[in-house]
Amino acid sequence: MATIKQADLIDSVADALQFISYYHPLDYIEALGAAYAAEQSPAARDAIAQILTNSRMCAEGKRPICQDTGIVVAFLKIGMDVRWDATMSVADMVNEGVRRAYTLPENVLRASIVADPAGARRNTRDNTPAVIHMEVVPGGSVEVTVAAKGGGSENKSKFTMLNPSDSIVDWVVKTVPGLGAGWCPPGMLGIGIGGSAEKAMVLAKEALMEPIDMHALKARGPKNRLEELRIEIHDQVNALGIGAQGLGGLTTVLDVKIRDYPTHAASLPVALIPNCAATRHARFVLDGRGPAHLQAPSLDRWPKVEWAPAPDARRVDLARVTREEVATWKPGETLLLSGKLLTGRDAAHKRIADLFARGEGLPEGVDFRNRFIYYVGPVDPVRGEAVGPAGPTTATRMDKFTDLMLEKTGLLGMVGKAERGPSAIEAIRKHRAVYLIAVGGAAYLVSKAIKAARVVAFPDLGMEAIYEFEVKDMPVTVAVDANGTSVHSTGPAEWRAKIGRIPVTVA
Ligand code: SF4
Repeated sequence: MATIKQADLIDSVADALQFISYYHPLDYIEALGAAYAAEQSPAARDAIAQILTNSRMCAEGKRPICQDTGIVVAFLKIGMDVRWDATMSVADMVNEGVRRAYTLPENVLRASIVADPAGARRNTRDNTPAVIHMEVVPGGSVEVTVAAKGGGSENKSKFTMLNPSDSIVDWVVKTVPGLGAGWCPPGMLGIGIGGSAEKAMVLAKEALMEPIDMHALKARGPKNRLEELRIEIHDQVNALGIGAQGLGGLTTVLDVKIRDYPTHAASLPVALIPNCAATRHARFVLDGRGPAHLQAPSLDRWPKVEWAPAPDARRVDLARVTREEVATWKPGETLLLSGKLLTGRDAAHKRIADLFARGEGLPEGVDFRNRFIYYVGPVDPVRGEAVGPAGPTTATRMDKFTDLMLEKTGLLGMVGKAERGPSAIEAIRKHRAVYLIAVGGAAYLVSKAIKAARVVAFPDLGMEAIYEFEVKDMPVTVAVDANGTSVHSTGPAEWRAKIGRIPVTVA
């Protein structure tokens, strides 16, 4: 009979969360490498190159793959024969592991969890609590799977109750374009079918913990209805042409994983959860012989891809750029930004809107005139960094503030990730502004372009404070130009049409 010590579970959870913060699973990296080799859309290929280069840099530097280091989800299968040498509950042990992982000084991770979600939304400061699923199973060991799920992809989760005769493939293919690019494709789709409403959602999340094997599945052929469904959904979603970061391209999903469960004769519950470019999960088993040790992957397994800015990229001096120059930038054009940027995301925008509503001005020291705002919540720096990983957050959440910001502050433009909604695009067109995107899932690479950072307002907001960044050759793409043309509309439409005519050899 195995006895599991409290310290072993805590240490193993903490180690696994640190591990997945900087090591992508090899199956993801290899599938993304194959997608890079097959990609024919230059914009999507550039984005995948950034994600692969970022991934390798993170593995080498042991720093987070993404600035959003996720909400921790843990699945525990606890053997019925296990004894515990512990004073804490299993949930408390898991949360202690989370606390230690996210506050580790050598690789501090971003604390993103807020308590009182419908009210004060206070940051818990150590990323606890985790979402914990436990199952008691036969046996004498404890199997633990931990994941760190990014908010951008989790926010795009969907659920439906279909009629039993409805097509699951049709629902997924109709639903995925509506997710936009905020889930940072290329990634995976986890699909849960059956059970009850909550069971289907858990099945979808569990499905995402399985390894990517679409290539092998296609090579050997499907053996059952679920495998047929996986292939149908994979091929039809990729035929939508959404592509990496929604820029238009061949690969939107690397794999589709499905789990099912018996359900009521009147029901067909279907849950869909996307996993993003920061796919992070690991599994370990405790059998009473001490803490788990995860084997570091060999860096030789990373594809030999080194992103570098295109030689024809336009260099922009942020100290001199004018509204007239901004109006000449073309959708899809690559820019390299140098100079000073201000940052701000959800909480800072809400505060600014409240200040204006009360007839007050911007906080002292904050001047957006002829400047750009970067939607980001960076990881804290370590070891002499100016800033920790600092990739873009989903811009759509700032849409409702965009007209106000452009109208009242004199901003020239914004930098974020994913598409803008109609109201934001109209505001950009009206004010002859611009919206630029950086690559979601390339946060450490982006942070290397940030040479200095200082908080200029709202320090109590932590990672959501307004910072001033000094950047050198920060790579961005023009996503919405001053005329309101969006690459997130034109890119996928172009590639959807092309995919019908070009041979598709995605991984
Ligand atoms: S890759 Fe995108 S969705 Fe995933 S954690 Fe990072 S920013 Fe969020």
